[in-house]
Formats: sequence, C-alpha cells, structure tokens
Amino acid sequence: MARRRIIAGNWKMNKTPSEAVALCEELKDLVKNDDVDVVYCVPAIDIVPVAEAVKGTNVHVGAENFYIEDKGAFTGEISAPMLKDAGVEYIIIGHSERRDIFGENDVLINQKVKKAFAAGLNPILCCGESLALRKADTYKEWIRRQITWDLDGVTADQVKKLVIAYEPIWAIGTGETATADQAEEVCGLIRSLIAELYDQATADEVRIQYGGSMNAGNAAELLSKPNIDGGLIGGASLKPDFGKIVNA
Ligand code: PEP
Repeated sequence: MARRRIIAGNWKMNKTPSEAVALCEELKDLVKNDDVDVVYCVPAIDIVPVAEAVKGTNVHVGAENFYIEDKGAFTGEISAPMLKDAGVEYIIIGHSERRDIFGENDVLINQKVKKAFAAGLNPILCCGESLALRKADTYKEWIRRQITWDLDGVTADQVKKLVIAYEPIWAIGTGETATADQAEEVCGLIRSLIAELYDQATADEVRIQYGGSMNAGNAAELLSKPNIDGGLIGGASLKPDFGKIVNA
C-alpha cells in the first residue's frame, strides 16, 4: 500500500525564536511538495512563532519533548495539551539524546506514547542501537525489545497513525550514515514486528523513517527503499539542504 512520505526536521536545541522564523522564511519555497508531510520539530519556545510562520503552507509543527501529566506542580515542564493548543501535531518521543542524556527509559517512553495519542498528537517514536550493540550483532533483539516495550497497551488504530524513526545512535550527528541496505533491513524488521504484535493491515499503514546523518546526497537512495517512508533529520534540517531531502 502507498504510504505518504514524511520528512521531519529535528531542530534540537538550536534557533532562538527570531532565528526560527528566519529559517522558516529561508526554507519556505524549498520545502514545497504536496506529496510529502513536512514537519519542523522545534524547541518549545519556538512553537508559537513557527506555527505562525508556516500558516498556510504544507509544513506541520512538531515538538521535541513534553511531560506526561496534563498540568500541576511540575516546574519547568510542558504538557501535551499545551502543545496541542499551540498548534503542534507531531511529537518526538524516545530520541536517543533524551534516553542517554536525560535518562528516559522505556517505561516513561511508553507512558509518553499513550499520553500523546490521548492528547491528539502523533508520536514520532525513536529507536536505535549503539555502536557496541551493532558490533556485537545484537541490534535486532535490542530494537525488538525497545518497540515492544514502547508500544505496550497502544492500540492498532493508534499504531496506524504512529511514525517510528529508526535512528542508529552511531549514525546520529556523526556524519556516518547507515547504508541504505542496513537501514532497510531494520525498517523491514520493525514492520514485521508490528505485523506480529498487531496485524498486517497495521504494519502496512505505520510509517517508518530512517534517521542518522541523512543529507541531500544520500536521501534519495535511502528513501527509495520499500520500508523507508521518510526521514528524521537533525543537522541538515537547519539548512537549505532540507528542501533537497523533501524533494529527493
Ligand atoms: C537526529 O538527531 O534525529 C538526527 C538524525 O540527527 P542527524 O541528522 O544530525 O544525524
């Protein structure tokens, strides 16, 4: 079945609000493509100005993080309903930087996936192995375990709206990309796992991205693979190159 391509930028902790608006302006004509869902996942403080800047274009707004409670005494946190009200449609969950730097585990990530759906946000659920696990050839079991835990209690109808990003940690921000065959192997494995955990119709609908040093030069080959429905892009999402990835 034809799945709609989704190209998402992960701006991470880059761009002040005024810089964010300037980047939207710079990318505006470059990211036009009616056949692709384009998403800018931006720092919380940039959400409102970016939502305003992309109004009337094909760009959707995403966030990078939230806390699982709706409101209350959680100093410094931001909730899913707050994001929704500000115009956010997609939310990155389980990025390796949140897992490794901020200690987020699969129990919390699973809670976040369920909370995001309850609030009407579409999760972009990240998974991926370290270089050590890749070298030890245990990466397939690792990915299987991450996805199985992270989707515990999530329904088939929800998974049909889910985006899963396969992001080998050794390829993030390193300039080292998984080969198209390596990326396809794991994306195919994730789709088979969804068929096993749910059913074939759900596996056929879930969109799976590759992420890890995707750029204007390697995007077309990665995106030509049958199980790769899009990309989650860090560094290259902050440059005009992002437009070339959208139109690869
Ligand atoms: C990311 O952090 O999601 C990512 C894929 O980063 P980069 O493209 O810079 O490797």
